[in-house]
Amino acid sequence: MVDLLDTLAVLSAHMGLEPDMDECGVPTASQAESQCSTGRGELDHGMVFRPAGGPCKALLKTLLTSACERDCFYCPFRAGRDFRRATLKPEEMADSFLTMHRAGTVDGIFLSSGVAGGGVRTQDRLNDTAEIIRNRRKFGGYLHLKIMPGAEKDQILQAMLLADRVSINLEAPNDTRLGMLAPHKTFLDELLRPLKLAEEIRKTRLPYDAWRRKWPSLTTQFVVGGAGETDLELLSTTQFLFRELHLARVYYSAFNPVKDTPLEDRPPENPLRQQRLYQASFLLRDYGFDVEELPLSGNGTLPLDQDPKQAWASQYLRESPVEVNRAEQSQLLRVPGIGPKTVARLVTARGNHRITALEELRGLGVNLHRAGPYLLLDGQQISYQPTLW
Ligand code: SF4
Repeated sequence: MVDLLDTLAVLSAHMGLEPDMDECGVPTASQAESQCSTGRGELDHGMVFRPAGGPCKALLKTLLTSACERDCFYCPFRAGRDFRRATLKPEEMADSFLTMHRAGTVDGIFLSSGVAGGGVRTQDRLNDTAEIIRNRRKFGGYLHLKIMPGAEKDQILQAMLLADRVSINLEAPNDTRLGMLAPHKTFLDELLRPLKLAEEIRKTRLPYDAWRRKWPSLTTQFVVGGAGETDLELLSTTQFLFRELHLARVYYSAFNPVKDTPLEDRPPENPLRQQRLYQASFLLRDYGFDVEELPLSGNGTLPLDQDPKQAWASQYLRESPVEVNRAEQSQLLRVPGIGPKTVARLVTARGNHRITALEELRGLGVNLHRAGPYLLLDGQQISYQPTLW
């Protein structure tokens, strides 16, 4: 078992590149309202994650094999790169993970793989591992399964019956940009098609046989800044993924060059761009914004010096602030410093009485420092002085 755990340590190296759920440190929708950190909490063996609303937990993020026959330009595991590779069989992976779980080291697993013997064969091995963990060893915790490029519909279904989350990384917002990052992956057929199949399964079948009797959530990830793509391209595809395929999250990973890869001389992407993309993606998903409304420059980039909701409000709300007691929910949601939960509380409160006091607004969750310039309270502009001490 010691040898297996050593192998597992090799397989988990570099997996910090892959995000999962609402990790502690990656911005959530409510944090999109503030200047949150995007640094991810990392453990020796993986990362921490946070099930919806719950405390942070430890997640083993690992590959089944770090051998890969593909040659994506940005990837440390690409074929031909010289480093120590490792592979575990499905049974070995399942037992290694469950040994760690029983020791209290990890609470869940995010299982991915390099592509070895084609996407279909690799998916079979991932599904076999998940089946052992879930059905034979009766693991009842969190399981996230990666879907391989080109996986078939029955394989995607099998993964969805076992996992809490499945993901397929699109890597780039369209076929042209993908060609600059991963010349041997095909955007529509190998990557977007499996995402569509997963959504089709969720829409057309009842989840009676699924783990916890509900279908897993669906996510993807983009590499940001590796192919010269614009924020407009990334966010247009993000909007499609939210609206048409109902993804739970879209993750953005700022490009960082890896030694001995074709992109090793490309400069790393500014992490602030990644943060602005997260904030903009939440505006699309939770705040009723359309990509055309986002404060994108003529060349399709978000401003880096302020968050996109603030930039939009400075342009459109400063001259026509929103009346707290009369505004539609959708108008309130567009005010910086007011998130979906705060809107719900505001609407409930004003259904009972007129809101007249700043203290009440603050008590309902309004960030007066951010929202004040864009609100009217009974026709009066809010002049809010932040407390200094
Ligand atoms: S297929 Fe995946 S593991 Fe293989 S080189 Fe591409 S990104 Fe890396």
